[in-house]
Amino acid sequence: MLKTRIYLDNAATTKISDRVFDAMLPYLKEQYGNPSSIYTLGREASIAITNARTKCAELLNAKPAEIYFTSGGSESDNWAIRSVADLMKAKGKNHIITSAFEHHAVLHTLQELEKKGFEVTYLPVYSNGVVKVEDVKAAITDKTALVTIMYANNEIGTVQPIREIGAVCRENGVYFHTDAVQAAPHIHIDVQADNIDLLSISGHKLHAQKGVGLLYCRRGIKLNPLISGGGQERGLRAGTENLAGIIGLAEAMAAANETMDDVNEQHKKFADQIYDAVMKIDRVHFNGDREHCIPSTVNFSFEGVEGESLLLQLDLQGIAASSGSACTSGSLDPSHVLLALGLTHEVAHGSLRISMSEYTTQEEIDKLLEVLPGIISKLRAMSPLWERIVKENK
Ligand SMILES: *Cc1c(COP(=O)(O)O)cnc(C)c1O
Repeated sequence: MLKTRIYLDNAATTKISDRVFDAMLPYLKEQYGNPSSIYTLGREASIAITNARTKCAELLNAKPAEIYFTSGGSESDNWAIRSVADLMKAKGKNHIITSAFEHHAVLHTLQELEKKGFEVTYLPVYSNGVVKVEDVKAAITDKTALVTIMYANNEIGTVQPIREIGAVCRENGVYFHTDAVQAAPHIHIDVQADNIDLLSISGHKLHAQKGVGLLYCRRGIKLNPLISGGGQERGLRAGTENLAGIIGLAEAMAAANETMDDVNEQHKKFADQIYDAVMKIDRVHFNGDREHCIPSTVNFSFEGVEGESLLLQLDLQGIAASSGSACTSGSLDPSHVLLALGLTHEVAHGSLRISMSEYTTQEEIDKLLEVLPGIISKLRAMSPLWERIVKENK
């Protein structure tokens, strides 16, 4: 075991906070009743879920009846998109608008819908990773059923103009879904003010556990029945509730809401330090938009460096970070997010995502910035690609 464990991959997952764990624990031990049971133990569990639903709703400025607990971000994305697609197909609408750099839970769902006769417009995200509202407006036709655009991107942290996109959707009578999994820990979300019809959140990205999340679905929009069985989640998603998980999710959202302003300020300071230090390295690209972003996630590409080798070298120093998303780092395909920014395959391959949490400390950032330049030099010294780049640029 390494002495230091510097975890800078919070966009991939987060640890359960003490506050969330403490809130969950009774429901894993003494308060383990089935919320559908009528005796006291069951009723208490049911009340706890009702309270959690109310808390989540309040935090999003929604109504409790508009909150559906799910197994996480992927399920919420799938459920929202497939439901609206089915609903609107019946009304002759088969066009969906999205962005080129959504999470695969959105993109792969849309690809399946394309096979079923839907047409999907993938809007450009430009070199800074921000969708243009005019592009959304221009893409809407009388066949458009849904716009689905993420709130904050998971690889580069850019924040999209959600409120404005939502307003355009409203004006045109088009439903608007947003994957807010990365935004939820860092942004005060208000589904009314933001003009959002459907929204996805995942527990494990904000210090709750893996395998729990929620879907906000505005009243009046019909969701497809997802799992048949008992009457849970208004009869649409059967199965005994993930009691402790749901309690933890509500607690995590409340905790994030309380601390995010201070934490964001701290992250901004760290992000500036990282940016200033990393941009001194030769032939490096910053990926994102420093103004429209959650400051917790920063992303760079180093020419002549292999992303996987960089991660392994950092790991040897006890530092956990990411190159692209966790789903793509298992394969050799460069990140679709970085390609959408216009990076070449070669440059996209040398990318590093650093994502912080409220537990990230100054010492950890110092350690990262102490070892990173040396690792880049070392990797480049062994790289035939770097040799070529240097020769070409003499
Ligand atoms: C992690 C993530 C998801 C998937 O959430 P799970 O709870 O792991 O299914 C979806 N969208 C974004 C933007 C994410 O970062």
